[in-house]
Amino acid sequence: MLGKRQPLEQLAQQQWDLLVIGGGITGAGILLEAARRGLKVLLLEQTDYAWGTSSRSSKMVHGGLRYIAQGDVRLTRHSLLERERLLKELPGLVERATYLFPLRKGVFPGRWPMKAILWLYDFLAGIRDHRYLNRAEVEKRAPGLNTDGLTGAMSYTDALTDDCRLVMRTLLEAARHGGLAQNYTRVTGTQRVAERFEVSVTDRVNGGTTTLQARHVINATGAWADRLSGSESRVRPLRGSHLFIDPARLPVSDCLTVMHPDDGRPVFVFPWEGVTCVGTTDLDHPEDMDIEASASERELQYLLKLINTQFPDVTVSRDDVYATIAGVRPVIASGKGVDPSKERRDHAVWESDGIVTVSGGKLTTFRLIALDALLATGLIDARAHRSGQKTREPMYQPLDNAPQAVQHFLHASQDDQGFIEWLLDNESVVHLDDLMLRRTRLGLIKPNAGLVVLDRYRALIQQGLGWDDDRWEQEVQRYLGLHERFYGVPGLPDMERMAG
Ligand SMILES: Cc1cc2nc3c(=O)[nH]c(=O)nc-3n(C[C@H](O)[C@H](O)[C@H](O)COP(=O)(O)OP(=O)(O)OC[C@H]3O[C@@H](n4cnc5c(N)ncnc54)[C@H](O)[C@@H]3O)c2cc1C
Repeated sequence: MLGKRQPLEQLAQQQWDLLVIGGGITGAGILLEAARRGLKVLLLEQTDYAWGTSSRSSKMVHGGLRYIAQGDVRLTRHSLLERERLLKELPGLVERATYLFPLRKGVFPGRWPMKAILWLYDFLAGIRDHRYLNRAEVEKRAPGLNTDGLTGAMSYTDALTDDCRLVMRTLLEAARHGGLAQNYTRVTGTQRVAERFEVSVTDRVNGGTTTLQARHVINATGAWADRLSGSESRVRPLRGSHLFIDPARLPVSDCLTVMHPDDGRPVFVFPWEGVTCVGTTDLDHPEDMDIEASASERELQYLLKLINTQFPDVTVSRDDVYATIAGVRPVIASGKGVDPSKERRDHAVWESDGIVTVSGGKLTTFRLIALDALLATGLIDARAHRSGQKTREPMYQPLDNAPQAVQHFLHASQDDQGFIEWLLDNESVVHLDDLMLRRTRLGLIKPNAGLVVLDRYRALIQQGLGWDDDRWEQEVQRYLGLHERFYGVPGLPDMERMAG
């Protein structure tokens, strides 16, 4: 459905209305919104689709209670309406989940302020889905949770997703409308020539470079945006890491918001794809953006401390962590040097010498961000932008011949032969890590980097991708190397864990 890789010469022979740089959720949303309007549009991703921040989020399609608490009612309302839309359109891929906010004696916010916030939160979404739980009910719903000063909890709902699958589903939808996407193709420069752009690109699979012609360019490269924007730096890269933990060691059935004992920051502990996910951290990320982000020892210790103080009866150690993941938030800097957690999280769109750059924002609001970016290029006018914001027309149609797991991503099907076969045929898998870390999450949610799964599907994968035994060995080494370096547990080589 995303089709075979097109040779660079073939891309260079065409005149594109719009070239979108970046294959995260922002780029995918722009590709879809542009293709739906009949534009001839091409998206290029330097690595794999969703390889950037869009595979490394907290997986929440949400209004964001923190935004409402900060008084940002507009951002909250937009996010909530998009949440409701996605829940309706992509059941299974975006699912309503129960969140618990434990209340403790003398700790702000207490029951009544939380109730007021949640009343407004639900009101803005057009639902009523919150209630107070007394201490006994909380103990039943979240066994093992620290009961010191616990008086009860507020229960409310938001939504969870698989961010990668959301990107893929959006790209597949765009492809149905004629949008073209190509991964492992890096944009190395753009130049304005009269009313057009010349865009230099490198094919990272087959090698080779070329120059593409486009009427408009949108730089949707998130945390990398400053490199291609042609303007002064605006992005403050902030890293956030999560741990994927053996669910037998830390079982939870709801999304819990718990406060870190060191700095009082809220951290989520939630069930996701069969494991328990804990995060996030929020730190400046001054590292080289060409090197994949990874969780540091300090972040691991910070999150383990949270778990072991909030769940005093379980002792979770680094051995119970299946995998880690770190993402870099493209936060638009206020320039005031504030604490990372206090920076605003909405997006910005700006233009420099004709190139429109969009960065920041959230997974949840990708459709609105796409409309803002298209407006800035002039490809849609203010009227189309307004009606796009308000429309009730569905974004997604059922995909012909795609298994349920692709349409709606039913969780149990991740480890399913039919699903994997379809991915190999239709979702531009180039390397084994694309399949294990992004098309599926088997490398994150299974112990030992999902080696058992690899053994099971070896023949299927080799056949589907035409790999001989040598290529298979190279891909396994590449995948395990990446897993150990960027998705493993700091200080604990994967191989050592696997041997043990
Ligand atoms: C820890 C964390 C938790 C979060 N939790 C949530 C949450 O729960 N809910 C929510 O709504 N939002 C959340 N967010 C925010 C959300 O994940 C991001 O806003 C969103 O994923 C950004 O998407 P993007 O497409 O703009 O960027 P990205 O996903 O980073 O995509 C940009 C892409 O551009 C590519 N690229 C860069 N340079 C080039 C080039 N030269 N040529 C071609 N391609 C290039 C990159 O490889 C990358 O894939 C979270 C973010 C983080 C870090």
